[in-house]
Amino acid sequence: MGEPPVLILGGTAEARDLAARLHDGGPRAISSLAGRVAQPRLPVGEVRIGGFGGVDGLRAWVIEQDVAAIVDATHPFAATITATAATVARDLGIPLLRLARPAWTPGPDDHWITVPDMTSAASAVVAEHAGRVFLTTGRQDVGVFAGIDDVWFLIRVVDPPTADLPRQHRVLRSRGPYGLEDERKIMQDNQIDLLVTKNSGGELTRAKLVVAAELGVGVVMVQRPAQPQTGTTVTAVADAVEWVRRRR
Ligand code: NAP
Repeated sequence: MGEPPVLILGGTAEARDLAARLHDGGPRAISSLAGRVAQPRLPVGEVRIGGFGGVDGLRAWVIEQDVAAIVDATHPFAATITATAATVARDLGIPLLRLARPAWTPGPDDHWITVPDMTSAASAVVAEHAGRVFLTTGRQDVGVFAGIDDVWFLIRVVDPPTADLPRQHRVLRSRGPYGLEDERKIMQDNQIDLLVTKNSGGELTRAKLVVAAELGVGVVMVQRPAQPQTGTTVTAVADAVEWVRRRR
């Protein structure tokens, strides 16, 4: 076994960026992906794919691999793995860094209905009397909208959803990043009157919010789940690189 590695919990552009920067100058890092997407964008360097098996599984893996530090660079809505990493890092006394892009905040032209979770987002779609909804919350949450029969949904996903779908819908398979022109065309061509999104944050998927404001389309914004208050948090990949290298 080589130098004790840094474990990067990934599945985000930031995690790939971090892996690339560490690949170029060290220290050794292993990126971990959940294996949700059929053809993931792979980080450079060492990669492992698949769940660990909860807290016990991650703890055993971290011990076996002699992990020196963990960077949790998972998506802000990946709450389970974030909680698991926090527990394992605390139990084993391993340094933990949370790398998470800042949440989006509304500007003066934005019309957001902020909701705490996906079930509330579905209620908001009904309460708003939306006719044509652009649903960008991802494959795993689509089922929550299945019972809404009198609304048409444009469902944007990377891989096909397996959950029950709303009666009136079209599935649009694509992967970001998306530019302003892409989003403008999608929303205009499909006569969208409401956008439903997670507050993922970051620039790669922000164009839809700019276009929604421009077209006067309302936004149902699902707030992030609570994060454990463990370890240090940074929002920039460069700060994560510095944190990791300081630990050498
Ligand atoms: P989650 O609900 O927090 O995690 C569910 C389970 O998936 C975890 O308990 C863990 O299984 C496994 N897992 C999650 N991330 C992992 C990782 N990086 N490496 C190994 N196992 C992982 O996560 P999720 O929301 O399903 O997201 C799964 C992955 O997709 C994450 O890596 C996340 O960064 C990425 N992603 C999520 C979203 C989103 O909106 N949720 C969007 C973009 C990308 P075990 O308990 O068996 O270890």
